[in-house]
Amino acid sequence: MAADDAYDHLYKIVLVGDATVGKTHLLSRYIKGDLPRAPTATIGVEFATRTVPLAVGGTVKAQIWDTAGQERYRAITSAHYRRAVGALLVYDVTKSSTFSNCAKWMEELRQNAEPDIVIMLVGNKFDLAEKNPSDRQVYYDAAAEFARQNGLFFAEASAVTAYNVKHVFEHLLQEIYNQS
Ligand code: GDP
Ligand code: MG
Repeated sequence: MAADDAYDHLYKIVLVGDATVGKTHLLSRYIKGDLPRAPTATIGVEFATRTVPLAVGGTVKAQIWDTAGQERYRAITSAHYRRAVGALLVYDVTKSSTFSNCAKWMEELRQNAEPDIVIMLVGNKFDLAEKNPSDRQVYYDAAAEFARQNGLFFAEASAVTAYNVKHVFEHLLQEIYNQS
């Protein structure tokens, strides 16, 4: 193995949540430090990887699986979830239906991923709610309470401004390590 590809742990992470909440933009922002160039509805890298250091020392290689738009038809195959040890469950803070659907996405995760999967709930498009507070449809406290009740980690983020993007991915990786 080449030295620049050395890592101590490999974690499969899946992105889930309704279409258009910003999953592909969050992944691109985290992996490339930039937004995707082409329209993102149907293009799909299967997964992207990034190796990150852990607080305790050592490194984790995150293998992060995006969807290719199948969530539009709730037709994500079980291969997407198989052996996933972590998930970013994403909703859009300006669209309440995307938050109500999080319970369904959790059900899919529980049925198809590893039983002890670690989940980070992410309220994306924080920039829109900040710019125009009347556009916010999901309150921070409501999402935080949902996360508390379901044992999820939680943060709001923005793929557009990069706010909390590194945090949501790397907090998840750190917690997977802590719990394994
Ligand atoms: P996906 O279907 O969940 O993968 O969503 P995409 O990443 O394709 O994004 C859907 C749309 O939301 C695109 O038009 C993006 O430009 C927009 N978008 C994604 N993330 C953000 C964000 O953080 N803020 C804003 N304002 N728009 C975003
Ligand atoms: Mg996408």
